[in-house]
Amino acid sequence: MANIVLKLAQEKIDSLRETYQQYAVTRNAPGVVFAAKLPSVAVTVYSSGKVMFQGQGAEEEARRWGVAEEKTATLKTQGDHLPAHFASLSVIGSDETGTGDYFGPITVAAVYVPQEKIALVETLGVKDSKMLTDDYMRKIAPDLMAACTHSVLVLRNERYNDLQKRGYSQGKMKALMHNKALQHVLDKMAPEKPQHILIDQFAVRDVYYRHLAQQQQIVQENVLFSTKAENLHVAVAAASIIARYAFLKEMDRLSKIVGFSLQKGASNKVDEMAAKIWQKHGEETLRSISKWHFANTEKACKLLQKKYSK
Ligand code: MN
Repeated sequence: MANIVLKLAQEKIDSLRETYQQYAVTRNAPGVVFAAKLPSVAVTVYSSGKVMFQGQGAEEEARRWGVAEEKTATLKTQGDHLPAHFASLSVIGSDETGTGDYFGPITVAAVYVPQEKIALVETLGVKDSKMLTDDYMRKIAPDLMAACTHSVLVLRNERYNDLQKRGYSQGKMKALMHNKALQHVLDKMAPEKPQHILIDQFAVRDVYYRHLAQQQQIVQENVLFSTKAENLHVAVAAASIIARYAFLKEMDRLSKIVGFSLQKGASNKVDEMAAKIWQKHGEETLRSISKWHFANTEKACKLLQKKYSK
């Protein structure tokens, strides 16, 4: 549910109170000087001059009175300075996942959320990404994919290991994937263009474009970079959910191959699991479902040696 806080000058507060007088309710909470309950939004005015709008109609109602402080101001992000009201613009967002997981692919998604679909995407359940569990994302991703122009790329482990052996860093692989996913979305939506593209920053602009130097098509127009970008526009939040969904689906497929559910991440548990797979299915199978150059491979090998030296 939307929750917007504005800091308003006294004259605005006076006029707001006048406007909502017919909806006034009594609220005996500390610091509350006025409260009103409209059909789709609750408005609370505090003695500090802050006004909170809560409910379905919060955004629309709040817009009549002022502009919420840009989230960028309170979030410690790194990257480009974003245009004003960025969260309400038509944006393609992109994000990746799976980079730190020993098992499974790297996935990248790019999603276009035009202004008029922002509310819909929020309604479909795109919230603060830290609150999103894997199960929840599995549930909402298909709706997001149906609702929005998007592209999702899966870099399977065989290909990853091959590229890695040829000297590609993860940064380069990610840059290539983001660029490709963004290009796909631009192609799908043409001739319409987004106002901006926002990449959840994993590399600064110069490094990102250096990775793309040999590419024929390089997406550059209106591209912005920021860390924590999923909090800055729902398009990036949607991209991170779709990327995660694709990652989980590939993990499901790989789990079927080994006959049990593969562990995410790169912990000791992963080492033990890798050792078990190595023993049961052989090196080639393990290689084909893992990021082989991770330290987990070495550790799994040692676990096996220990086991057989007993
Ligand atoms: Mn990211």
